[in-house]
Amino acid sequence: MKFCSECGRPVERKIPPEDTRERYVCAYCATVHYQNPRVVTGCIPEWEGRILLCKRAIEPRYGLWTLPAGFMENDETAIEAAVRETLEEARARVDALELHTMLSLPHANQVYIMFRARLLDLDFGPGHESLEVRLYDEHEIPWDLIAFPTILHTLKFYFDDRRAGAFRTHVGDIVRSGGEVRYHPRRPAPA
Ligand SMILES: [Zn+2]
Repeated sequence: MKFCSECGRPVERKIPPEDTRERYVCAYCATVHYQNPRVVTGCIPEWEGRILLCKRAIEPRYGLWTLPAGFMENDETAIEAAVRETLEEARARVDALELHTMLSLPHANQVYIMFRARLLDLDFGPGHESLEVRLYDEHEIPWDLIAFPTILHTLKFYFDDRRAGAFRTHVGDIVRSGGEVRYHPRRPAPA
């Protein structure tokens, strides 16, 4: 960020009074520009034991498979955003959403919230961000072609739960350390 969104003059990095972090602060009108994580929500659409995946038509990870998900918009709820993303990316209608996985990505400033959802019918197809949309049985899942670690872990939790006979909510973190991206059930305490 270079310019103040209030007055258009240059901003500087500084710690505002009674704050603990550097922020973009306007030297002229003193507006503090807070930057916070973005929320991604999406669905695991289910149909008779199969789930719906989308092949990405956009970067990053063009041509790899993902669950329908995307950034929340202002003025909508997490569930509304997940339903909207599923309609946009897979032209699919879902209901009966149940929270399944919540992942924090501190290195990417994102939070993922993924819901199990009931696919209402088979009238689906690729939206403009997808090349292809199809239902997968567990043994068909293209594990080596999944677009993001968040989606890989969400799918893994989903099928683990299903084999165990009970779905539960998974809360954890995807943490990048030493160039490696790994899952932690929760963020490790600072040393
Ligand atoms: Zn300003």
